Amino acid sequence: MTVENTLSIIKPDATRRNLTGSINAKFEQAGLKIVAQKRLQLTKKMAQDFYKVHKDRPFFNELVDFMISGPVIAQVLRGENAVKHNRDVMGATNPKEAEKGTIRNEFAESIEANSVHGSDSIENAKTEIEFFFAQIELIY
Ligand code: ADP
Ligand code: MG
Repeated sequence: MTVENTLSIIKPDATRRNLTGSINAKFEQAGLKIVAQKRLQLTKKMAQDFYKVHKDRPFFNELVDFMISGPVIAQVLRGENAVKHNRDVMGATNPKEAEKGTIRNEFAESIEANSVHGSDSIENAKTEIEFFFAQIELIY
């Protein structure tokens, strides 16, 4: 077991419904520590850049519009196997397939408006954390 950091984003559908605290409680109950966090309004350019791996997917433009439709919370979660652990706490991309008790099962509105983003590999976690945070902003 290794302690890792992972990048999480609470998406606009969730901030709009005032669910930041409820979602953060899920992370904390699961043993993930929030070691950095900020609320921000993404620009179109930031959202396109963040999701550039999906640029050829049919839902890309809609996804970008959704991600800039309101404030997001960018955060760094830390814990044992945090990258994979957070993916389990989030649940499947499609909330209809997300296991009971997961964030997406409890809070997501749709496959697009699915309340949270989480890094999918240690390598991507590093890049995604650097996208939003300076190293000195991570307080363990
Ligand atoms: P995840 O967020 O679970 O890692 P992906 O990386 O595959 O999922 O997709 C990134 C985001 O794009 C999803 O969280 C969701 O907001 C959106 N998305 C994924 N698939 C679809 C789809 N079929 N239709 C609309 N939006 C989608
Ligand atoms: Mg993904």
